[in-house]
Parts: sequence; C-alpha cells; structure tokens
Amino acid sequence: MFATTRRAICELPDVLISQIAAGEVVERPASVVRELVDNALDSGATQITVRLLAGGVRLIAIEDNGCGIMPNEMPLALKRHATSKISNLHDLESVSTMGFRGEALAAINSVAELSLLSRTEGQNSAFLLDGSTGEITPAARAQGTTVEVKELFFSTPARRKFLKTDATELAHCLEAVRRHALARPEVSFAIWHEGKLVEQWRSQGLTNAAIETLQNQRIADILGEDFYTNSVAIHYTENGLSISGRAGVPDLARARADQQYCYVNDRFVKDKVVTHGVRTAYEDVLHGQRQPVYVLYLTLEPRQVDVNVHPTKIEVRFRDSRQIHQAIRHALEHALALPRTALQTAPQTPSETANFTPALAPTSVQAPRPWAQTDIHLGHRAPSTSTDFAAMWPAPTAPQNPVNTYNTAASASAQFSVTESAPPTYATATSNHNAAETTPPPSHWPLGRALAQLHGVYILAENAQGLIVVDMHAAHERILYERLKQQMTHTAIPSQPLLIAATFAATEHEIATTEAHSETLQQLGLEITPFAPKTLAIRAVPSSLAQGDSVALARSVLAELAQHDGSTVLERRQNELLATMACHSSVRANRQLTLDEMNTLLRQMEVTERIDQCNHGRPTWRPISLKELDALFLRGQ
Ligand code: ADP
Ligand code: MG
Repeated sequence: MFATTRRAICELPDVLISQIAAGEVVERPASVVRELVDNALDSGATQITVRLLAGGVRLIAIEDNGCGIMPNEMPLALKRHATSKISNLHDLESVSTMGFRGEALAAINSVAELSLLSRTEGQNSAFLLDGSTGEITPAARAQGTTVEVKELFFSTPARRKFLKTDATELAHCLEAVRRHALARPEVSFAIWHEGKLVEQWRSQGLTNAAIETLQNQRIADILGEDFYTNSVAIHYTENGLSISGRAGVPDLARARADQQYCYVNDRFVKDKVVTHGVRTAYEDVLHGQRQPVYVLYLTLEPRQVDVNVHPTKIEVRFRDSRQIHQAIRHALEHALALPRTALQTAPQTPSETANFTPALAPTSVQAPRPWAQTDIHLGHRAPSTSTDFAAMWPAPTAPQNPVNTYNTAASASAQFSVTESAPPTYATATSNHNAAETTPPPSHWPLGRALAQLHGVYILAENAQGLIVVDMHAAHERILYERLKQQMTHTAIPSQPLLIAATFAATEHEIATTEAHSETLQQLGLEITPFAPKTLAIRAVPSSLAQGDSVALARSVLAELAQHDGSTVLERRQNELLATMACHSSVRANRQLTLDEMNTLLRQMEVTERIDQCNHGRPTWRPISLKELDALFLRGQ
C-alpha cells in the first residue's frame, strides 16, 4: 500500500541541506581530518599539526602555516558552495587544488562545533570565528589557520552511534594523514593524541632536495625501511603521463589490500583501472590471493582526469583509462622482472647517502622505456669451452656490482646452458683469461657458489653474506618458463626432432585433441602424430625442453588443450600452457646434480627475469645470513 497523504513541496533549510551533504562527506573523524588537511595543503602550508582527543570524536584541531583567511572572508568560508579555488567551468576542468566544491567547512559546521582562527600575511592580529554564532573576535596567532572541530555529530546522535572505539577512530585518522603525507613529502606533519605525539614526519622542504629524494625518504619514514629496501623503483613517462613510486617485491605481499597507495596528481584515489593494472603486472609472480604493496604517483594533465565524480574525490575518471592500465602494467611488470639479487646493493635507506639515488636507478631512470635494455638472451647453447670446474668461473671482468652484473650479463649476451644429461657449460663472450688462475670469491656472484644438494630438493650455496638455499625445481621451472615466453614472442618455439620417436598409448580424447590442435602444438614446438590406432608418437619437442620426459610433457599439454577451444587457446592461455610445459620439464626432486650443474643453475638464475618466484608465485630461493647463523649459535653474545 502506498501512503496517500500528499505533502507540500518546500525548500529545505540551509542547515538541513548541509547536514544532508555532511552525510556524504563526513562519515567519521577521519573524514574531517582529511578535509581539513586538504585545506591546509591548499593554503600552501609547509607545516601541519593535527591534535586529537578521543580518536577525534571530542576534538580535531588542525594548525597550518599557510596563507590564512581574511577576517571579512571568514564567514564565507563556512558557507555552502563558497570557495576561493575555482570561479568558472574552465577552472573546474583544470583544477589542481585538493578542494574546489566549497562544501567541507559548511558540512562539518553543521554536524559539530567548529571554530576558525586565522591570520594572513601583513595583518597585525589574528581573528577567531565561532561557527555556531558567526561572531568574529580578535585573537592571537602567527600567520596561518587553526580549525577546531569539537564533539562531532553532537547534534546528530543517530550518526554518532555509528562511530567505533576511540582507538579505531584514531587509526582511521592516522591513515588519513598518512595518505596525505605520502603525497606531499615537502610538508612536515605532526599528530598528537590526548597530548602525546603519536606520529611525526619531518621535511626539509623542497629547497635543498629533489622531489624524488624527499619522496623516497617519506616512503621509508611512513611505510618502514623494510618496505623501502624490498621494493623496486618505478619510472615511466609517455604521452604526458608519468608514473613514479615504488612497488613491493612479491615477498612483501599481504593478506589484506591495506598498503596500496595510488595518487593521481597528488590526490589519493582508489581506482579500479589502477588496481587491475597492478594486479595484472603481479599476476606472474604473486602467489594465490596475496595483495601487493605499492605507492604509485601518477602525474598527468589535469584535463585528462575528471576529479569531480565523487563527493570525497576518492574516485576519479580517466579520459583514457586504457592508456593508464597499460602504462601501469608495463611500468610495474618490467620493474618487477629484475632478479632480486640486482637489488642488493641498493642503499639500505634513503638517508644513508646524501645524494640518494633510488634502487635500480641505473637501469630505469633516464629512458622512458628503460627495460628495452634488459632484454636477456637465454637458451642458446654456448660452445662448450671446457667442462673443467674452474672454467665455470668467469674471468675477473665480472663486475663488482650485482646491479651491473645483471646488465652486463644481459647485454654481453652471456650464455648459459644447463641440461639434464649433457655436461653443463658456462662461457662469457668477454672472457679470455685463464679462469683457473682467477677464480673469484663467491662475492662476485649474488647467489654464490654451490656447496651441496640437500635431500635431493635444495641446493646450498655460499655467498658473501652467508648461505643461500635454492629450491632447484622451482628455480629451474621459472628459468624454463621465462625462456619459453621469450621464444614465443618470436612466432613459435624452436623444436628439436627426437632421434627415436617416443610413442605412448593414447586415449580417444588425446588423439582427437592432437588433430584439433595440431597448429597450436606446432607453435608450442611439439610434433605429435598418430602412430597406430591407439598410439601417438612424439616426433619433436621444444629444444629447450629436450632433456625432459617427453611423454609427460605431451600428455599434460594435451590435457590442458582439451579443455579449450582450438583457435584462440594460444592467445588466451599462452602463459598457462607455457607454465605447464616448464613445470613438466624442469629438474625433478631427487635428481642428483653435480656441483657444475648446480653452479650453472645459479648463474642462470641471476640473469632470469622474475626468478625470485616460481611459476606459481612461491619463492625460489632464500638467504640465510652469517648474522642469522651466528645468532642461532649464540656467537658473539
Ligand atoms: P574548498 O576547499 O572546496 O574550497 P572548504 O569548505 O573546505 O571548501 O573551504 C572553503 C574556503 O575556505 C576555501 O576555499 C579556502 O579559501 C578557505 N580555507 C579553508 N581552510 C583554509 C585554511 N586552512 N587556510 C586558508 N584558507 C582556508
Ligand atoms: Mg576543502
């Protein structure tokens, strides 16, 4: 039944309109903090102090040293739709301030007790505006503004009931300031709760440091040095879009998506296009549902993004969301592809070096598409110079710095080969020295020198820092997978005919799949033909997988192909197919490796992209430092 009484239409009173607007903008103390810090930043402040009582419910006071408000404009600041930031549509479309809607102070004033204390440059006194009475009185203060908000939701008890404990509200307030502080490293922040300093991030300001140095310092201050040292620098510029920041290595991923910071022109946003782009970039290295951690700064022409699509401006709309998605994906994918060993000489924290250059800078700073240089060539069999163990070690041309090791190895096309039956070989194009004389210490190799095999599963190696433990199957799997992916980019995977075709008893289903997918199989480097009514023959296999069990390989590929439609399977499921092939061909547990083979595997790992995770996102190696070992044995205590 519908209500039948008709009520007259009437205009709502101003306060009620503001209270309705407050419903969208002010959800909890943290929303007030966010709006007031926005205002302080827009005023050009370089120092912002936040004081809270009872998680912000009893009091939020924000002090800044910005431009201040003229006393005659103070009442306007509290009016709805009154702003100094835009005055026409053109301004709106190119807005670069945090605020522009002119409704925050009005909304807050309608649901709490608000006062404004402000002094502009050149004025000889500050003025205090009482938000409820509108009275203005002279007061004392240096240049800048203090906004005090007391007893949030005191007049709207229904909304006050939704608030959580003080501790929870405080945590939200801290997160709100953290989001701002990560975006504005040139501004100092301090947060006090119940008279105690709870967070402080200082800045020397923009004058004596580059913004990136400040950014790195701020990221380390806020997210911790662990995040800083275990993340890679992102640098990307193309078509007016630039992306910088840091992306955590897969090991840092978390169960919750609570350390994902994305900024568009310094504004913290949550955006599906960005999240999806990042997710795709991590796809190949992240295990299960783990959530990556990152801080990304996107800078683009204000006209390329509409910030006026959400009351709190936490969502935006990109003109060209495809460009954003692809750029994010590329920028992250390539930064994450570098083996972790390449990271190890990065400065421990930004503060350790005065003129700090971020990790991996040499490979990623200048060129917009720096990763073009990091093309690595694997899988070509090097001419075997010697099978002598000493010959496995390179001449002293080996660079000191693992970052360079990676690049040099890549650009000089260092060629490695590990196979299951043939003796492994190692040779560099640049080496003519007598290797035996100049065996370098293990410190030259990030993953060190092989010592032994443990339980047929792990390789133990010694490097300068201590012990390295490698899951040999996982590592080999990734090496093969990356090699196959690279070969696949050149039309088809090279195949190698088998001297004696391998035959196997096949099911009807397998025989049918072989016929339906013959072209795909060929592209994958496999040649499988009918041999007898119920038998298939494998005549050729991918040359890089020639040493594996060809029947197991063929069967697993056929099983996977059978699940999909013929024509487009390779397009859609290429990586899954290649991962399956790599998995079935990589060295199995319990296979005894010689020291030479182990060393060759380690050297290959050092130049393989995404080597730190296997194809399923699990780690392939772990370091155990001498320090950790010493602690285990209570040495030096
Ligand atoms: P908006 O930020 O969208 O303009 P607000 O309601 O948040 O709207 O603020 C209204 C106006 O008050 C701002 O446009 C600005 O001119 C002034 N103002 C608010 N806070 C400050 C501050 N901390 N310092 C200087 N001016 C301020
Ligand atoms: Mg504002």
